[in-house]
Amino acid sequence: MEDLFGHRISYLRVSITDRCNERCEYCMPQTDLDWLPKSEVLSYEEILRVVRVGAGLGISNIRVTGGEPLTRRDVVWFFEQLSRIPGLRDLGLSTNGTLLARPLPDGRTTARALRDAGASNVNVSLDTLDRAVYAKTTGRDLLPDAIAGIEAAREAGFGRIKLNTVLMRHRNEHELWDLAAFAQERGLLLRFIELMPVSTSEVLTEDNFLSVGEAKRILEFRLGKLLPRPDIRTNGPASYYEVAATGQILGFIGAMTNLHFCETCNKLRLTCEGKLRPCLGSHLEFDLRAVLRDPAMDDADLARFFREVVASKPEKHDFRENYQPRRRMVAIGG
Ligand code: SAM
Ligand code: SF4
Repeated sequence: MEDLFGHRISYLRVSITDRCNERCEYCMPQTDLDWLPKSEVLSYEEILRVVRVGAGLGISNIRVTGGEPLTRRDVVWFFEQLSRIPGLRDLGLSTNGTLLARPLPDGRTTARALRDAGASNVNVSLDTLDRAVYAKTTGRDLLPDAIAGIEAAREAGFGRIKLNTVLMRHRNEHELWDLAAFAQERGLLLRFIELMPVSTSEVLTEDNFLSVGEAKRILEFRLGKLLPRPDIRTNGPASYYEVAATGQILGFIGAMTNLHFCETCNKLRLTCEGKLRPCLGSHLEFDLRAVLRDPAMDDADLARFFREVVASKPEKHDFRENYQPRRRMVAIGG
């Protein structure tokens, strides 16, 4: 599938829940949390049908996300089913990591069970190594669990583990070196992400915004020169740099300041209530659940719907235009 601007769509980010065991300031509203009723959330069977149809149209990468995906029951079973769908090359998970070390009744960690079920890579969010800062940022004192989860993922033998750090002035700007060292000691790929206006939170102010350009300068102050590595690409929009002195690779995701950010976009998003979104930074969304639950509609109708959504994909997101201090935005989910 290709959109009007030549973006070839091969990546579907699937949110399986709006629930979470944390309350990150920049992601969740701090009050008025109304979880969706179960009937409004797509069942695993419905999601698997969507992925099967998508795979038939050239979707080869799936990333399971949320909310916190590991809070949904039977997630290991879901991964087993996903991994049986022909055409999928990459089956990833985005998580806050806090539940990865949790043991299952058979004694395996959740991380090991997911690996055995066919998950190929995992992204763990980690904004800080300071327990008090972690508790303040996520609303939960779970840093030890997140670190244990990262260790469980390493022990489970995931080939590629990425750490994602949201950049926040006054919060973690003085920790960027420590996070880089933490990643390097463990062989993890660390990426720094600019704060995006995707939630209703008061934390999304220009005052708290730290650009990837500034993060690079802060890192260079202690680590020395960072050299661009345009030859390194992952599935997303990250730009990679090499620390000249050590060879460590660091990623930067500059949705707000990188003007070329959308050029290589290959992504669609499925929200947990079945809305297909062609772009994170646009309010456009299409109700796939209505098609899924209409007995008169078959997989050919779903495929047609997919193509229509791809055809509506905007050339670029409109975060920059919308990024006004304290402006409230609707929550989208990951
Ligand atoms: N709960 C999982 C996690 O935290 O990784 C998966 C879902 S979470 C919504 C996916 C990613 O979105 C996380 O890496 C999180 O840091 C990032 N995120 C959430 N709100 C953000 C914001 N306002 N700006 C930038 N990144 C954000
Ligand atoms: Fe939960 Fe992830 Fe959002 Fe934090 S970023 S509140 S862990 S969904």
